[in-house]
Amino acid sequence: MDQKARSILKARTVLAQGHGAGDSVTRALIPPVHVSTTFLRDADNGYESGFVYGRTDNATVRQVESVLATLEGAVDAKLFGSGMAAATAVFLALDKPTHVIASEVIYWGFREWLVDIGRYGGHSVSFVDTSDLDAVARAVRPGETGIFWIETPSNPLWTITDIAAIADIAHAAGALLCVDSTVSTPIITRPIEFGADIVVHSATKYLNGHSDVIAGAVVAARDSALWENIHVVRGHLGAIVGPFEAWLLLRGMRTLEVRLREQCRSASRLAQLLVSQDAVASVLYPGLKTHIGHDVAAHQMDGMFGGMLSIRLRGGEAAAIRVASRVEVWKRATSFGGVESLIEHRSSIEGVGTPCPSDLLRLSTGLEDPDDLFEDLVQALAR
Ligand code: PLP
Repeated sequence: MDQKARSILKARTVLAQGHGAGDSVTRALIPPVHVSTTFLRDADNGYESGFVYGRTDNATVRQVESVLATLEGAVDAKLFGSGMAAATAVFLALDKPTHVIASEVIYWGFREWLVDIGRYGGHSVSFVDTSDLDAVARAVRPGETGIFWIETPSNPLWTITDIAAIADIAHAAGALLCVDSTVSTPIITRPIEFGADIVVHSATKYLNGHSDVIAGAVVAARDSALWENIHVVRGHLGAIVGPFEAWLLLRGMRTLEVRLREQCRSASRLAQLLVSQDAVASVLYPGLKTHIGHDVAAHQMDGMFGGMLSIRLRGGEAAAIRVASRVEVWKRATSFGGVESLIEHRSSIEGVGTPCPSDLLRLSTGLEDPDDLFEDLVQALAR
């Protein structure tokens, strides 16, 4: 099937078949893991295969990249050894000092890196509540602001940022919009359709979905000098994901649509049930009509609001830690997006300076029966 025919297939079909993955030599349905680090040079000194050395490219990695680029409606995608390697590569590839406008609430580890961004090429950063468009417009420094970095829904408050509105502000300022779309995945939101220039994923989460691979991806709306540089940076740093991890990632991605649909359904049900628990002060979930970003979420998320939610406890920090200690079905662990449901007291892992309230528990809904998940929380909240 040619590229054009493939591009009209639904995401679920593209994923289930790994975008035509397989082996043309043996006609194996399941693709091999390409482990070779080096490739034969042609007699005329060229490399007709296009592969030269494993630090810059790999055929297994390319297979995953083609699936992701197709799902995102992108020109290309590059896989990295982690979500952090992917996100930081965007900034390491900039060719001049740039002012960055970033969402106030984003993945904590990357926020910490951005705080220190001055070390990496003299860039500067302003953290802004990107759900407040006036505040975003006020933060623009004409001629200096080159990158807008948003995460929506943002971890762990699940704040929603209007991608199309921020794209307009960014482009009017001559800047690029990058969206960390880890929580939505291309099944729920395709940021490029709303004007994003670059999309980043921690593939460690939903894309792989089984808590057994660390990987990341950068996806580009179009070719550009920056995009070329991102590839160069990946090669220089040796930040490409390993072939075994890429292979596992492709296997995990085959069920992404089915997993995520179920996880969203459970998260939505839990959110609605938890609202009426006495011990719960509030439930943070963009699918709830009471969520301040619900209307924007309904517009840019494809009828599903994600598998992540947080609850804030009336009893404060002590109650939150107590509830986490009493659950039995939920597992106390960091990260998210896997098949096991995870619960985490986020502020204690983020530490000093975190915008995450200390009474908050983050819930990553897995694939267990939602009744079991709810009953487990109810007993932990009641005791
Ligand atoms: N982006 C988001 C939204 C995340 O939650 C994380 C990690 O938790 C990252 C990026 C970084 O990804 P990784 O852990 O794969 O480096």
